[in-house]
Parts: sequence; C-alpha cells; structure tokens
Amino acid sequence: MTATTQGMLPALLDDTIAYQRWPFTKALPPVHSSGETQSVIPSLPSPGSIKPFLNENSTLRGLKLCSRRQPCKSRLCPWCSTRKASQTRADLRREAAQHASVLNLTLSVSSSPSLSDAWVALAATRAEFTRSRWLATKSTSRFRQTEVTHTEQGWHLHDNWLLFGDDDQLHLLLNRSIPRWLDSASRTGTTAHPLGQHATLTPHKSDALSYTSKGLLAQHASHTSAQGRTPGDLLALFHAGDADAAEAWHELESFFKIRGHRWVATGGNLWGQK
Ligand SMILES: [Zn+2]
Repeated sequence: MTATTQGMLPALLDDTIAYQRWPFTKALPPVHSSGETQSVIPSLPSPGSIKPFLNENSTLRGLKLCSRRQPCKSRLCPWCSTRKASQTRADLRREAAQHASVLNLTLSVSSSPSLSDAWVALAATRAEFTRSRWLATKSTSRFRQTEVTHTEQGWHLHDNWLLFGDDDQLHLLLNRSIPRWLDSASRTGTTAHPLGQHATLTPHKSDALSYTSKGLLAQHASHTSAQGRTPGDLLALFHAGDADAAEAWHELESFFKIRGHRWVATGGNLWGQK
C-alpha cells in the first residue's frame, strides 16, 4: 500500500456515509388508523414444534417431508433456511475480512397486491440496473439477497446488496446507484419511490452482514404488524390460526413452486469472491 493511499484511508474508515438513509420499516403506514392497538406477532415456534404443523398444512412437498437425512434446502423451511443463513454469514465474513468497507444498497419497487407482479417489477428493474455488468465492473465482489414483506398495501420486495471494492469504486457506487435505480425503474415502467432506496458506505461491516444474511424467516425484533410481516411472521401467525396470514403464506408457497423462483427470488448469492 502506498503512503498516499494510507493517508486517504482514515477518512473512509472513520465515517459511515449515507447517500440516503431511510429505515425501510418505519416508513410503512400504520396498520391500524383508528387508535386500535397494533396486533403483536407471535414468535415462530421452535422447528421441532412447527414440523407437524407444516407436515399437515404446507403445499410444498419439500417442507412437508424435510428431514435431517433429506433436507429440502428451501429458504422457506424453518430448518434449512437457518442453516443456509449461517453458511451465507460465514462466507460473507470471510469476504468482508479482505475489505476495509462495505457499501450496503437497499433498492425497492412499490408494493403490489400480487407477489408475482411485485417480483416481475423488481426483476425487470434489476435487469436494467445491472445491464452491461454495471455493478460487476465497479466492485470486486457483491452479494444480493431479496427480501419479502407483506404489508397492508400488498407485497413489498427489495434487493439488499453488499458491495466490496476499492475506495473509488465504492464512492462512485454510493453516488450513482440510487439515481440509476430510479432511472431503471422508469425505463421499465415500474413505480419506485425515491424514499424507498437507501445506500450506506460503512466500515462497520458486521452490522451490514448480519442484517443482509438474516434469512427469509427472520422476524422483526419488535413483533408488531405495523412494520409489515416477514415470511417468518406469516408462518407464526398462520400457526396461531390467523386466516389472512395463512392465505399470504400459501401465496408464498405457490410462488416458490415456480421453477427459477425458489433460488433466484431468495437471492443470497455471492459473486466475484476470491
Ligand atoms: Zn428443509
């Protein structure tokens, strides 16, 4: 490393720079507008106690029959998703150890009543955004996971990216990613609100890593419905007898049956690592 580079590094290391900071969950409108108490979402029961429930109620063969000998590897599965999330976290830690900072991008499209429609809109915007290997040529390695939340407005999807690279690359991405995303959305006829996008360049890699690799079934810490429901919340509510949650969970299962959605839609892919 040259002296010049060493001289420049502390400025990057001392600060977390946010292009636009928007805590995703807080901007969702409250579920109850009449002053009614927000419903509390139960914690997901232990995998052991939810197994018989899924065996009886799931439409996914893998989830019904998942066992230690024959894991279904679905990211909707309480056993396999936890295992997958911890593998992902280990891979990301190894990658992050080689870099001073990480750029965390949260890129979303507007909610839709149909999960498939929301997925198509997100995928089209992403394809336009990453066209001509735009991210690949401006980072050394990158990780993406798509997150799914069910809200009063329908399904809300967003891509969570972790990007590693040199100083100049990451600053360029910090400044250009959100405008490019919004532009990509308008080119593909997708609605994406400027406030729904978020870019942070930070040396605090472990926070970004834990957030991004938490897995589809992770629940919101506060367990109230105002933040939108994660697939883990939906399963816990379905288990507790909530009919709306059961319907949403079954929509998720149907979506995951479509070839190509099972893996791609849940992301969790790391590209470019050494
Ligand atoms: Zn499984």
